[in-house]
Amino acid sequence: MSILGNIDLIKKKIPSRVKLVAVSKFHGETAVREAYDAGQRMFGESRVQEIEQKRNLLPADIEWHFIGHLQTNKVKAIVPYIQTIHSVDSRKLLQEIEKQASNAQKQVCCLLEIHIAQENSKYGFSFDSCRRLLNSEQCKELKFAYIGGVMGMATNTEDQDVIREEFRRLKKFFDEIKAEYYPQDNRFSEISMGMSDDYIIAVEEGSTLIRVGSSIFGHREY
Ligand SMILES: *Cc1c(COP(=O)(O)O)cnc(C)c1O
Repeated sequence: MSILGNIDLIKKKIPSRVKLVAVSKFHGETAVREAYDAGQRMFGESRVQEIEQKRNLLPADIEWHFIGHLQTNKVKAIVPYIQTIHSVDSRKLLQEIEKQASNAQKQVCCLLEIHIAQENSKYGFSFDSCRRLLNSEQCKELKFAYIGGVMGMATNTEDQDVIREEFRRLKKFFDEIKAEYYPQDNRFSEISMGMSDDYIIAVEEGSTLIRVGSSIFGHREY
């Protein structure tokens, strides 16, 4: 199957309200261009060095999304062109994005990564720590970085019930914090959940933004 065929197939399986981020990590410029020529405009990368290299070779109207763990010292490099950072997983990172976005006089959409999987992971907020962040002055004072929603990754398991339950909890959490903190703010609107193996379940559970790599591009090129 071609990249074009893969994208068409995914689009047929999801409602038009759900946005598709094509995760192009480990795939070269040619693969990204093929997806671009098929009409795809949102691309996700998880490493700063890789996104920096590709971006310069590719059309300027691509909407770049950062989806991997981001070190604070790399924020400055990507802020001038990044549209959304899906993986905001600490206060320190959010603070640095605000600082660099202010320097660049640019709005940056930040999704708060929530740890929903059973696996131990160093990254992501718990529901409680996320609420503490939303209650803090730091959050109220944001002017250039804004909270556009939440992101989560389900446990890597064959058990669909476990995956479904985790996505369901994230959607419920989103609804609660939307009502509590952002009832009037339309920018707080995204639930980024669902990858190649679980995006159908994620969409059924309320995802607005899926991040799909291998089902579009195949397995890694390098
Ligand atoms: C790699 C990656 C994806 C895409 O994974 P696939 O299984 O290839 O679709 C989505 N989200 C994050 C955070 C990733 O690192």
